[in-house]
Amino acid sequence: MGTTQSTDRNRARALRRVSGKPVVVCGGAGFLGVHLCARLLERGEHVVCVDNFCTSGPEAVSSLLVHPRFELLHRDITVLGLNEIGTPSAIYNLACAASPVHYQRSPLDTLLASIRGTDNLLRLARETGAVVFQASTSEIYGHPSSHPQKEAHWGHVNTVGPRACYDEGKRCAETLCFIYRHEYGVQTRLARIFNTYGPGMRLEDGRVVVNFIVQALAGVPITVYGDGTQTRSFCYVNDLIDGIVRLMDPEKEVEGPMNLGNPAEITVLALARRIVELTNSSSQILMRPLPKDDPPRRRPDISLAKRVLGWQPQMSLEAGLTETIRDVERRLRAGEQSSCDDLELKPRARAVGANAL
Ligand code: UDP
Repeated sequence: MGTTQSTDRNRARALRRVSGKPVVVCGGAGFLGVHLCARLLERGEHVVCVDNFCTSGPEAVSSLLVHPRFELLHRDITVLGLNEIGTPSAIYNLACAASPVHYQRSPLDTLLASIRGTDNLLRLARETGAVVFQASTSEIYGHPSSHPQKEAHWGHVNTVGPRACYDEGKRCAETLCFIYRHEYGVQTRLARIFNTYGPGMRLEDGRVVVNFIVQALAGVPITVYGDGTQTRSFCYVNDLIDGIVRLMDPEKEVEGPMNLGNPAEITVLALARRIVELTNSSSQILMRPLPKDDPPRRRPDISLAKRVLGWQPQMSLEAGLTETIRDVERRLRAGEQSSCDDLELKPRARAVGANAL
């Protein structure tokens, strides 16, 4: 196995010398990253996947490792160097824990991944001429004061709450992109990504769709936080990846941030019921305290993406959930472990949530 991998790596290095311009996917072993790497390989790119494995491991990209145009680099984006990536045509920055359960466990790492990490990647792009894709987030809208959220909304975020490490880091990353674009001419693309789900999410990811599916399949209570009237709008991962690929099209010059998400809005309680139905589960719904600063409503206005990219999501929630349930069932049957005890926010964050009630 080790020999095969090193042969593959040598082949990839040789290819890099010939093709010259790889694309670098930072956070490439995360949920979105793996899907993006696979899509870029399909498109004929030579992909260098960079990950510090803070929320995943090399097994996440095991199916890609055999590909001769795929390289895996175990590195943190805050220290990634030019000698490691050559002169890429593009750097995709998806390197940051995105599930509240995970990003709140190491808040300083979360914040600095977005600030120091993005700064380092933009510096590398400035030196190499690479185009930078920055994965921003609907979280930058915080508790939005308008609905649905348009890109022009400046957001309403608590700087000292448990979500701030993620929200403020991502906001600062947008500002860094803006500065490098205007001061140094770095080409940047900013996508504000709304809730995304689909096959390949870790069973202990902690985000709502996979939590509810794992709980429903195990027949244990479905943990709805708060009264479940808060809303989210869920985009199937393949649709999102289509949007990212279109946004990186060199013919589509987009200066500011762009929302990418599915505008079909649903309450968390309705989502729980839908998943119980689709899994034929006997699980009951259990109300738990709402975590502090949990946004009450979220839905993207995607008029800009429709107009500029000709993009809109294609997959219905029903079909997307069915695919995701199949994937989780298959992995559970194959012996992948999931502990329903690990799905929730841990005591520190939950205590804050309880105080807020
Ligand atoms: N949520 C829930 N039960 C869970 C996990 C999440 O009710 O087991 C709720 C959470 O409070 C939020 C919504 O589902 O209102 C989406 O949470 P998620 O962590 O998926 O992402 P967020 O949009 O909050 O970043």
